[in-house]
Amino acid sequence: MFSRVYPLFVALIAGFLILLLKLAAFYISNSMALKSDALESLVNLLAGSFASFAVLYARKPADRDHPYGHGKIEYVSSFFEGGLITLAAVLISYEAIENLIRGIELKRLGLGLLINFGAGSMNGILGMWLIHMGKKKRSAAIEADGHHLLSDFITTLGVAGGLLAVHFTGISWLDPAIALVFGLWLGYAGGRVLFRSVMSLMDTENPELLNRLVSAMNSVGDSNVLAVHALRTMHLGDYTHVDIHIVLPEVYDIGRANEIVHAFEHNVLSEAGMRGEFHSHVDPCKRQYCSHCSVEQCPIRQEPRTEKRPDFVVETAVSWPDGHLRRVLEV
Ligand SMILES: [Zn+2]
Ligand SMILES: [Zn+2]
Ligand SMILES: [Zn+2]
Repeated sequence: MFSRVYPLFVALIAGFLILLLKLAAFYISNSMALKSDALESLVNLLAGSFASFAVLYARKPADRDHPYGHGKIEYVSSFFEGGLITLAAVLISYEAIENLIRGIELKRLGLGLLINFGAGSMNGILGMWLIHMGKKKRSAAIEADGHHLLSDFITTLGVAGGLLAVHFTGISWLDPAIALVFGLWLGYAGGRVLFRSVMSLMDTENPELLNRLVSAMNSVGDSNVLAVHALRTMHLGDYTHVDIHIVLPEVYDIGRANEIVHAFEHNVLSEAGMRGEFHSHVDPCKRQYCSHCSVEQCPIRQEPRTEKRPDFVVETAVSWPDGHLRRVLEV
């Protein structure tokens, strides 16, 4: 299990070094922009530590305490990260405005810039390595971490470009101005991370996931399954809990129905390429699907079979037909 996440730990150790370098660059130059960059590295380090733990913990199989598994911890982790980024954004923006008003005294900007740029490049290399390892180990968390570091490298480039202008023109208010832009951008990024984690924590319906499930159901094409409805998904990291009602010919006995439901779950999940589970509820056909029901010797058939079962569509799959009295959906 550790071999899966060791790239994240390498990233943590390297991240600590990068943070020290960026802090040194700030102290040498007294640059507000370089300070913001260092603060962002600190956020990365804190968030990265929690994320490494979360990735390990999320992989733990379900147990008595957590019968739905431990996947949600990944969203708690990104909520934490989003909160930290947003907090850093507020602090940076506040201080940048203060410095814009009061003015700032820059010291050895050239040297500070050089050190910061070196540290930033380490971030870039680390990011590319993490993306490579994430693809190799098929870990979304590692890959995401890599993309994050790579985008940090891009911002470091932007900051360095701006400060180079300060260095050569001597216009010192440009420094807090760059920091302010950095802070605002960080606020946007942090807000997005927060928003996404809340969506997943709240199990906000994910249309992409529903489409994948329903088209997998169509590819599996089990003719015994006459219809599906009340489809819902719960997001547990890379594991998905699916709640579904499956309409079967009511002449089948419970043993037969159970076999069909189990096979349907297994086939749909593997067709969709998803890790997860179905919690299915079986509904009787109530003789409403005879026109496309394939049961040959059916004692209760109302009309002959005239057509193939139509494809499932998301809209009906997520609906709650009349008769589901316990469930009231607000529209
Ligand atoms: Zn547990
Ligand atoms: Zn139902
Ligand atoms: Zn069973």
